[in-house]
Amino acid sequence: MSDNLNAQSVPESASGLDFIRTRIVEDNQSGRFGGQVHTRFPPEPNGYLHIGHAKSIVLNFGIAEDFKGMCNLRYDDTNPSKESVEYVDSIEADVRWLGYDWQDRKFYASDYFEKLYEYALDLIRKGKAYVDSLTPEQITEYRGTPTQPGRESPYRNRSVEENLELFEKMKRGEFPDGTHVLRAKIDMAHPNIIMRDPAMYRIRHVSHHRTGDAWCIYPMYDWAHGLCDSIEGITHSICTLEFEVHRPLYDWFLEALGVYHPQQIEFARLNLTYTVMSKRKLLELVQEKRVSGWNDPRMPTLSGLRRRGYTPEAIRSFCRRIGVSKTNSIVDISTLEFFIRENLNRNAQRTMAVLRPLKVVIDNYPEGKVEHFDADNNPEDAAAGTRKVPFGREIYIEEDDFMEEPPKKFFRLAPGREVRLKHAYYITCVGVEKDAAGKVVLLHCTYDPESRGGYTPDGRKVKGTLHWVSVEHAVDAEVRLYDHLFRIPDLAELTEEDDYRDYINPASLEVLRGCKIEPELAKAAPGEKYQFLRQGYFCVDTGDSKPGAPVFNRTVSLKDSWAKISKAAGS
Ligand code: ATP
Ligand code: MG
Repeated sequence: MSDNLNAQSVPESASGLDFIRTRIVEDNQSGRFGGQVHTRFPPEPNGYLHIGHAKSIVLNFGIAEDFKGMCNLRYDDTNPSKESVEYVDSIEADVRWLGYDWQDRKFYASDYFEKLYEYALDLIRKGKAYVDSLTPEQITEYRGTPTQPGRESPYRNRSVEENLELFEKMKRGEFPDGTHVLRAKIDMAHPNIIMRDPAMYRIRHVSHHRTGDAWCIYPMYDWAHGLCDSIEGITHSICTLEFEVHRPLYDWFLEALGVYHPQQIEFARLNLTYTVMSKRKLLELVQEKRVSGWNDPRMPTLSGLRRRGYTPEAIRSFCRRIGVSKTNSIVDISTLEFFIRENLNRNAQRTMAVLRPLKVVIDNYPEGKVEHFDADNNPEDAAAGTRKVPFGREIYIEEDDFMEEPPKKFFRLAPGREVRLKHAYYITCVGVEKDAAGKVVLLHCTYDPESRGGYTPDGRKVKGTLHWVSVEHAVDAEVRLYDHLFRIPDLAELTEEDDYRDYINPASLEVLRGCKIEPELAKAAPGEKYQFLRQGYFCVDTGDSKPGAPVFNRTVSLKDSWAKISKAAGS
């Protein structure tokens, strides 16, 4: 995989490496982990992956590549009520699609349930863990607040024997949910609330998607996570900033058990404007049918971006370029759009499609005559070759490429005005037909036979070049235009009283039917990507497109019209 963006991406130190890679270099120089680099990507299978996860994947697998190390895929499946095989499968498909390979290192936290249980027994025997029988409400109440110390539970000083016996009964399923928990015995007055005797195991009589009904006690994330890293011999446990305050707890567990100790390093999570990145909210959007599913092309999920027409190369480039930092911030979604535009500009075949058709009759063009023009498939790539585009007496042009009374800077078609038809001829508008409501429904034009190919012997200039499709050859298509999912850039600015769902952009999807496409384009396979000349990049929808009834998604417009519009509006 090309890494040439790397050096420019994170100029946070003199070496040009980001702060995480800098620390790894230091560890390698000091021989701390024997020069080994072993990372992991640890998703919880409770939803589909999103572009924020891509940042973590590109970082973890990218570091393994850069340092000739390894990266594991590990499912943090400690919360069975929210997890499912559907999510596990989608995560694997998405990581592979992004271009990464965990080889034979696919693991699950649930692989270690037995081992984690043994570790818990070890802590109990060391007098460092106890079974608490307070109610969940009491536990919260006893915990204290950031400014007030907590109180010790009356059960805190149970004997090792009693704790072992109760924990065994918890495991055997003798108690209902919520009656007992296993807690670490640390310090109820600790200034860091996370250290106030955190829970290690809770009772949950639910089936797990892998272990079935073998367990009715499940490890808490904080208990399991650092230990899974330790068991797998991870050298650098890279996680997002909110886990910085959990690090002392992970350190405490590892030291209390006397086991191998990875180095945790935190970085800021990715936030993007005009979207949400919380799996809980994304799940709500799906469940409440505010989008068509996890892979709705408006979703920031990898499956949504893929269906929208994003490529793995563009997403990897984006993730490398934004780099990693220690402070939370929000990245403008136009940055992501820049990378897909750049990628598709190099790779997408050009074609002509008329989204809002207006019929044009070329009065002096012979009836029944058809010509085929050679059109280049990609001016950025000579190897992409050419295709034949049919032309006839009747064509469609874009409705908004014509104005009856054009303002000064309108350089397209108007009565008496001459324009170039891309790849074909110059035409001049000589007449307009309207319906009863006064709407323009047909244009009459004449063409200059001398202008074949788009130039005239006299070298006269025309200002506008329009795309078009021959009426006789056109195929109908549905085109879906997408805009931002939300109508405000930073959803983090909402207050407690706000409901983020009130800020969904009602115009985030516009469906156009009866669009006219070149006959060649009608053969395109699902997922294929095109540039519609003058309009943007589109791909054949993988869900709804059918032979004879093609459906296209707009991936991104040609230019960043949004930024332009908001700039013009002075915001
Ligand atoms: P939740 O949305 O429930 O908080 P999560 O986003 O932490 O969950 P996980 O499945 O636990 O989801 O994430 C897997 C990995 O991806 C973790 O290491 C996490 O730190 C990282 N990750 C998740 N979201 C982002 C993000 N927005 N930017 C960077 N990394 C992220
Ligand atoms: Mg998480």
